[in-house]
Amino acid sequence: MIEPDERTKIYSTLDTRFEDFVTILSDYLRVPTISAHGAKFQEGAEATKKVLEAIGADVRLVPEEGGPPVVIGEVEEDPTLPWVILYNHYDVQPVDPLDEWRSDPFDPVIRDGKLYARGAADTKGNTVAQALAVQAIRDVAGRLPVNVRFFVDGEEESGSPHLLPFAEDHPDLFRGLGATIEAAAHTREGKPSLSLGSKGILSVELEVRTSAVDQHSSLATVIPNAAWRLIAALRSLRSERGRILIDGFLDGVPPPDPGMLRYLRRNTADPIAYKEDYGAREIYGGKTRYARIKQATYGTTCTIDGIWSGYTGAGHKTVNPAVAHAKLDFRLLPGQRPDAIFDLLVAHLRTKGFSDVKVEKHSVFEPAASAISERLPQAILAATREVYGTEPNVFPWSYGSSTTWYFTRMGTPAPHPPGVGYQGSRAHAPNEQIRLDDARRAMKVAAGMLMALEHS
Ligand SMILES: [Zn+2]
Repeated sequence: MIEPDERTKIYSTLDTRFEDFVTILSDYLRVPTISAHGAKFQEGAEATKKVLEAIGADVRLVPEEGGPPVVIGEVEEDPTLPWVILYNHYDVQPVDPLDEWRSDPFDPVIRDGKLYARGAADTKGNTVAQALAVQAIRDVAGRLPVNVRFFVDGEEESGSPHLLPFAEDHPDLFRGLGATIEAAAHTREGKPSLSLGSKGILSVELEVRTSAVDQHSSLATVIPNAAWRLIAALRSLRSERGRILIDGFLDGVPPPDPGMLRYLRRNTADPIAYKEDYGAREIYGGKTRYARIKQATYGTTCTIDGIWSGYTGAGHKTVNPAVAHAKLDFRLLPGQRPDAIFDLLVAHLRTKGFSDVKVEKHSVFEPAASAISERLPQAILAATREVYGTEPNVFPWSYGSSTTWYFTRMGTPAPHPPGVGYQGSRAHAPNEQIRLDDARRAMKVAAGMLMALEHS
């Protein structure tokens, strides 16, 4: 039983230890664990182990066939207590374009109350915040009200391509009364968020070849151009304003849940803020905040992540390229299956006369969502009220994708609690950052969430 004065002490302990958060996180961020480059896996796993061992967790690096080790850090207070899983990842996204960073992405610095480094928000900051929350409860109250398992993945940013066989081999690691998946971001105004799941994703690469070798561009009178061919194929996939034109694309997606739409109406987040955050010239969705947030939440995407062909270097080379490539990703809603969407994409290209366009599947995450009535989301709501004195912005799922489904498929509800990041954190982009005030409160919400599970 955690007494009221102990609760107060736990929160004040987290305040007094906030410098530790900054120091521990900064050391952790200096390890450049870019999974897309296969870099620093062992160092990343060891650095994660160090963070978790420092709070008294029992840590092991569990090998993953073909991939980096998964770091499992357990605090088992009592075998009869339920387990709560805290999922994060120790890998990060590539840092390019490097020249847009104001400081070295792997040398964390604090400017104006914000900590800048690759991985600060996504998602090393969350691992450290949750670790310190666990430590504070144990130091003050003696023990946690639940058992806690940190589950730290090494290649989430590459789509966790080896996690499914790992999950088949280690089903118990995914079972618990709930799992938090990374974390949701604060608004610019500092309001926290709770997402009950995540969108799915299918990533593919397209290649079209119109000849064996490049030619002098004068021959374009008679030899087809691979780049134009690819553009024609891409234009068949999506309308100018983002509607996906693949037959059957939205099959299986239920209409929005009325209860969730009510949460979205009360939600204060507004995608219009991306104008400032990203310098975006236009925001789709409509004239009202509700229309825009509905579009961001219930919208699906077909995005050109990268496209290349011919000569793109300095000066000019007049060439008719033989080959053209594009990397695409589709963000998917619960009800869609990435593998089925891949088949629809291949069939679409064939029926539209683009059977010469080769499609290669890169990575997938299944979409997934949990009910708000589950114990863990309810504990997060209670903790948010206690720490912020307000309700969080509730989303049925996050706009991005993660490993949520690996937990929900085992019957483990898997929400995304308020975390250290905010709407302007620039995850995956140059100058990734967290605001220290958000981080301070995210630590307290993590502690409050665990404490709220005591009597639930
Ligand atoms: Zn990420």
